[in-house]
Order: sequence, then C-alpha cells, then structure tokens
Amino acid sequence: MFEKMKECPICGDNNLIAEERENELAIGPEDSPLAILSFRAPVHICAECGLEFHGPEWDEAAHEAQCEHMRLLAPKQVRKIRLLYEMSRKEFAKNFGFGEATLERWENGRNLQNRAMDNYLRFLENRSLGAFLMNQASDAVPSQQNVVDFQNSFPRLSGIEDVIEREQKFCLRPKQAA
Ligand SMILES: [Zn+2]
Repeated sequence: MFEKMKECPICGDNNLIAEERENELAIGPEDSPLAILSFRAPVHICAECGLEFHGPEWDEAAHEAQCEHMRLLAPKQVRKIRLLYEMSRKEFAKNFGFGEATLERWENGRNLQNRAMDNYLRFLENRSLGAFLMNQASDAVPSQQNVVDFQNSFPRLSGIEDVIEREQKFCLRPKQAA
C-alpha cells in the first residue's frame, strides 16, 4: 500500500517511514469550519530530513471522508456498482447515459457526483432496474429519421386560426346588450 511513495520530495532520500495516523480535515471556511472530519491515513516521514508529507492514500482517505460526510457514494462504491454489470467505463457510460470522462472523474475522486446522479447510481445497484433501463434504451434508438417520422405523424391542424380567434373572443359571461 505504501509502495507508491518511494522517495522524499525534498531531499530525495528513500528511507521513508509510513505512520498510520488519525487525521483531521476542516470543511468550509478556514476561520469558521462547518465540520471537522476525522479519518485514518498514513503520513510519510523522511528519515533523512524529517519531512512529513501526504501520499495518494491520504488524498483518497480524505476524499472518502468528505463523501461520507455528504452522504455521497465514494469512488470505490461507484466503481463497484459499475462492476456489478461487468462493464468497462465506456460501456457503462453508454448504457446508462453518463459521460465517460465524468464517470472516470467520479471513480478516481477528481470530482463528486451531484445528488441526482448519486441517487441514480444507487438505483443502479439494483441490477434488474439497470436491465430494465437498458431494455428501454435499446427500443428507442434516436436517429434523425425517427425524429422526422415523429414530426410527420402529427400533421398541422387545419383551421387552427379559427380556433385561436374563437378562443380569444371567448368570454365566460357574455356582455349583455345594453
Ligand atoms: Zn527528506
């Protein structure tokens, strides 16, 4: 797990010690944080110069803590839902209407899905619902020709001007002739 951090970013020494710690993360403005999140993650310490620094695991754990605080699915959970369908990101995005790049950002923690998308993903945890949606989508392949056919199936109503004129003149209580 700690293999990613191979050398100190300051002195380049490779004698690093990873120390699991309880960390705190303030959410909101610095002077009046809305919440303090705590999470466990390793801190790397350089044995040579004493520098303490965060690696990618720290970022991941901090992001997960934020997701939990906001009651949103964490990147791993999003990925897990996709893998229920044994699909690549490309396939999953195409089948359920996500943007492939957007999905990738959710899965690697570079962006957070909004509440509606989070709800949608949670629904997709139910595979029969996912199957239903995929079935729906395969019935309705949108193409230019379909759009034209759809428009042609509603020819313009004839005599519509008369209807509009009558509606404009319509009055619930006709004025009594004086
Ligand atoms: Zn160092």
